[in-house]
Amino acid sequence: MSRKRKAISVVDNTFATPYFQKPLLLGADIVIHSTTKYINGHSDLIGGAVILNDDDLYEKIKLVQKSVGAVPSPFDSWLTLRGVKTLAIRMKQHEENAMKVARFLQKQPNAIEVYFPGLDDHPGHEIAKKQMTGFGGVVSFKIKGGIREANTFFGKLKVFQLADSLGGVESLANYSALMTHEAFPEELRKKIGVTENLIRLSIGIEHIDDLLADLGNALS
Ligand SMILES: *Cc1c(COP(=O)(O)O)cnc(C)c1O
Repeated sequence: MSRKRKAISVVDNTFATPYFQKPLLLGADIVIHSTTKYINGHSDLIGGAVILNDDDLYEKIKLVQKSVGAVPSPFDSWLTLRGVKTLAIRMKQHEENAMKVARFLQKQPNAIEVYFPGLDDHPGHEIAKKQMTGFGGVVSFKIKGGIREANTFFGKLKVFQLADSLGGVESLANYSALMTHEAFPEELRKKIGVTENLIRLSIGIEHIDDLLADLGNALS
């Protein structure tokens, strides 16, 4: 199938996953995934995928892929296929845990703002409810204080590992200002809300009691 268009829309569906959101069915032209994250789900490879429903676009992108050699190794492909078999049950558990973590954080005096599209007060909640069948597993919050308080928090975590990535079965905590977004100039970081008290959590599929106990202890 091919269609006339003025612009090509590309959706990064990495956080949502195809389990919770299907952008091609919502009208997008191209969907991209970091398969490093939920698709593989076990934090043991790096990969990506481009998903299309247009033959002409496919041929163009396929040529670029072939020419630059952006192809995964057989072993990484095997791991990805093995991981994706459990995508559905992993996503259900990620989301269930994330919702409970978000509600728990809202009640903590040392967590001053909580961001999760599953919360009623999140600015994207209504649109997420309309076009997604779930809200994913990434929860962010602002800790009361700054670098010192954030460092104390990370130092006390036992179940959550301090790491850059997300989407694996094990829970991760990320200090965005000094990790994922360190390369951004400070002004830009401030503008997009990546402040020194922002902490991003990738909620894993561990028992919820272990996650809440870990966060409660680190925040106390
Ligand atoms: C991690 C990530 C990427 C980059 O993917 P890599 O597999 O790390 O190269 C792109 N988009 C989103 C939303 C991501 O989370």
